[in-house]
Amino acid sequence: MRYAEVSVNSPIAQRRTFSYAIPAELGIDVGQAVWVPFGNKLLQGIVLELSPYPAVEETREIAAVIEPRPLLSPAHVLLARWISEYYLSPLFDAVALMLPPGFERKALTFVSATSIPGDFDPSALTPEQSRALELVRRRGKVSLRHVEKTLGRKKAQAIVSQLVKRGLATRSYELESVKAGPRVEPFLSLAVEASEARQEAARLRERGRAIKQVRLLEYLAQQTEPVPWAEVRQNVNRDKAVADALVRKGLVTWRQVKVRREPISYQDITPSPPLTLTSAQRSALEAIKSALAEGKAQTFLLHGVTGSGKTEVYLQALAEVIGRGKRGIVLVPEIALTPQTIERFASRFPYRVAVLHSKLSLGEQFDEWQRIRDGEFDVVIGARSAIFAPQPELGLIVIDEEQEWTYKQDDKSPRYHTRDVAIRLAGMTGAVVILGSATPDVETFYHAQRGDYHLLQLPERVTPRDGSAMPQVEVVDLREELKAGNRSLFSRALSQSVAQAVANREQVILFLNRRGGATFIQCRSCGFVLGCKRCDVPLTYHPAEDMLVCHRCNHRTPAPQACPRCLRRGIKFLGIGTQKLEQEAGYSFPQAGLLRWDSDATRGKHSHDEILSRFRRHQADILIGTQMVAKGLDLPLVTLVGVVSADIALNLPDFRAGERTFQLLSQVAGRAGRGTLGGRVIIQTYAPEHYAIQAASRHDYASFYNQEIDYRRQLRNPPFSRLACLVYSHTNDAWCQRQAERVKRQLAQEIDSQGLDIELIGPAPAFIHRLRGRFRWQLILRGWGLSEFLSGITLPQGWTVDIDPLGLV
Ligand SMILES: [Zn+2]
Ligand SMILES: [Zn+2]
Repeated sequence: MRYAEVSVNSPIAQRRTFSYAIPAELGIDVGQAVWVPFGNKLLQGIVLELSPYPAVEETREIAAVIEPRPLLSPAHVLLARWISEYYLSPLFDAVALMLPPGFERKALTFVSATSIPGDFDPSALTPEQSRALELVRRRGKVSLRHVEKTLGRKKAQAIVSQLVKRGLATRSYELESVKAGPRVEPFLSLAVEASEARQEAARLRERGRAIKQVRLLEYLAQQTEPVPWAEVRQNVNRDKAVADALVRKGLVTWRQVKVRREPISYQDITPSPPLTLTSAQRSALEAIKSALAEGKAQTFLLHGVTGSGKTEVYLQALAEVIGRGKRGIVLVPEIALTPQTIERFASRFPYRVAVLHSKLSLGEQFDEWQRIRDGEFDVVIGARSAIFAPQPELGLIVIDEEQEWTYKQDDKSPRYHTRDVAIRLAGMTGAVVILGSATPDVETFYHAQRGDYHLLQLPERVTPRDGSAMPQVEVVDLREELKAGNRSLFSRALSQSVAQAVANREQVILFLNRRGGATFIQCRSCGFVLGCKRCDVPLTYHPAEDMLVCHRCNHRTPAPQACPRCLRRGIKFLGIGTQKLEQEAGYSFPQAGLLRWDSDATRGKHSHDEILSRFRRHQADILIGTQMVAKGLDLPLVTLVGVVSADIALNLPDFRAGERTFQLLSQVAGRAGRGTLGGRVIIQTYAPEHYAIQAASRHDYASFYNQEIDYRRQLRNPPFSRLACLVYSHTNDAWCQRQAERVKRQLAQEIDSQGLDIELIGPAPAFIHRLRGRFRWQLILRGWGLSEFLSGITLPQGWTVDIDPLGLV
C-alpha cells in the first residue's frame, strides 16, 4: 500500500479525502494522525484508508507521523464517514469528534543537524547559511521559530530549505503543547531531617520567638510526605509569610505537585452490591443478557416509569458485559445534573468508572482519554460526546433519558443525534444498545412498536407508597379563574396549596417553561391562540411591528385588538419570565423563603450544586425554575409542584410541541412526592382539554402516544418522513429572503427532474429571526432520502443544513 486517503483539517476539504504518497521510511496505518502538505501549509490529517493506487494522478507525500499509535479505531473510521455522509458535515468535523481533547493544534517545525557529508565544502555556503547551520549544529535541534528570531522570519524559511536540500539538516514536526496542562498545587515539606527540624523548633520555642514558625515546623516534622498547602492552612497555619520565612531559613521547601482532579471522590463511596430485582426488572435483564450472549448488535427500549428501577437494570447489564470481558459506555443528558447517578455507578464498579466532564481541564481530559484507550475503565460515563470515547471492546451502550434534546448537537457541525450515532456504532462493533426512558421519544417508541427495537417495560415503581404510586395531578382551567375575578398568576387552588405546604414546613417547586416565553398571543378570557390557517401552527408575535407571522409559510397579519373567538379584548397576554414570577410569589407568599434557579442565576461554576444544596438543606421553601428543575432531582421534602403555565411549550410553531409539553409535564410531575410525604402537582393552563396535558395529568404515556402518532401520520411528520432544515443567514434581511427563494427554486427544479417525492416548505423567517446581528431564513424539506438528495447539491456559502432537526423553532 503506497498511498493513503487522508481527511485533512481544512475548511476547503469538506466531505472528501485527499490522496498522499507514503514515503518509504514511514509506517502508516489506518486511523493514524499525520502531517500533510496542503497548499502552502502543513496541516493535520487522519488516514482513513490505504490503497495501492492514488485517487488522483499527482500526489504529494505525507510529511510526518504525529503519533505512531492510531487515534481512530477501524469502527470509528467507518462511523466518521457515516456521520459526514448522513449529516452532510465536513469529514474532518466528524473525525474530530473522536480525537483526543485538545488534539487540534498547530504544527511546530523543528530543524535538526545531520552528520556532515564527507564532500562538504563550507565555502559554498552564504554567510547567512553558515550562521544558520552553526546555530543548528550547536544545539542539535532547534525550533524554526528560534531560527526566525536570529535571521528574520522570511529569510529563515528559505535558508532552512537550502540546508535541507544540501543534506545538512532535516525538518521534523511536533504538536504545539497543550495549553492547559494538569493542575499543579503547592505542597510544603521539610528541607532538613525531622530531628533537625524538631531541634530548631525547640530552640525557637525556648527563646519564646516566632511561635507560628515553631508550630508549623513541629507539624511538618510529624509528616512522612509533602503536605498540600491547603491542608496546612486548614490544620496549623493560614499565613503564607510564616512558611516563606522558614523557606528563607532553609528549613522548609515549596514543591509544585501535579494533581489529578478525580471526577469521582471514592473516599466517600462505599461499594454497593447488586439489588434484588422485581420480576419486571428480572425479565428485562434476562432479555438483555441473552442479546449480550449472542454478541450481535441489538437495540432495546427500556420503558419504565420514574422510580421503576431502570438504573439497576443498567448496572446489572454492565456487570454482565464486564463478565464477558467487554466494556460499556453510559450516556446521561447532562453530567452536571446527575451526581447521584454517577455515585451509583462508581459504588457498583469502584475505581473502574471514568467520568468525562467538561469541567476537567483540557490536560485532564486528555489524560482521561488516554487512560480510556488503554482499557483502564470498565465503564465510561458522560454527556453526548462520550459516545465517541475510545472505549476498547465495546459491548454495551446505555442512553439514559433517551428522549432528552441534549442528545442532539444542533449548534455546530456535525449536527448529529447521539441515539442514531450509538445505534450505528453498535452495528459496527456488535454492541447492545439500551435506550431508557419514562417518556420515550415518539419516534423511538414507534420503532419499538414495529419491532425494530425490543420493547422492555417496567410498569411499576419499585417501592409504591400508600397505594398512590404516582403523585396526584390536578389540572386548573385558567379561564375559570378569570371568570371568578382572579387575575393573579396563581389560581386559587395553587395559592391555597402553596400556603398550606409552606405552613406544614414542606417544600414547593414553581415551574415555568420560559423557552419561547413571549412568542404567541393568547386570549386571557377563552385561551384562544391565533394560528396559521394554511399550516396549522401558532402564529408568532413580533412586537416591534405589532404583526403575527407564520414561521412556516411567511403568512403575515396584524395582531387583532379583540379575540376572534369570544370577541373580548385583552388577547395580547404574552406570558411571563422567572423574575416576574419570583416577584409575584414574594408578594403572594410573604412568609416563604424563595430561591430562583435558571440560567441567569447559575452563571458560576458550582452554582447548580449550590442552589440545589441550599434548597435541599431547606434554606428556602419555594424553588422557582425553568427546565432545569425538571431533571433527575431527588428532593424528599417537595410535596407540591406548580406548573404556572403549561401553554408556553404547547404553542410553539413546531410539530413536536405536543410531545415536548407531555415530556416536560411528566418530568416535572415526577419531582413531587419523591419522599415519604407524598406529593401533588397542579398544572395551570388555558387548554385543559389538550391531549398532551390530559395524558400527562394521568401519567398515561400510551394514550398520549396513540394520539400523537395519529397526528404525525396524518401530517406526514417523522417518523412517517424525515425532515431537513436549511437555514441561510446574512446581515441583510431582504437579501436573505431572495437567496432563500432562489435556493428553493433550484431545489424544486432538481426534485422535479429527478422525480423525487420531497416536499419543500417555506421559505420563511426562522423562528429566531435574528441571531448575533444576522437575519435567518429557513427552508424545510420533508420526505425520504434527504441526505442523499442534498449531497448532490452545492449550496452557496452561508447555508447550514440540519438533518433530522429536533424541532423547527
Ligand atoms: Zn377569547
Ligand atoms: Zn403558514
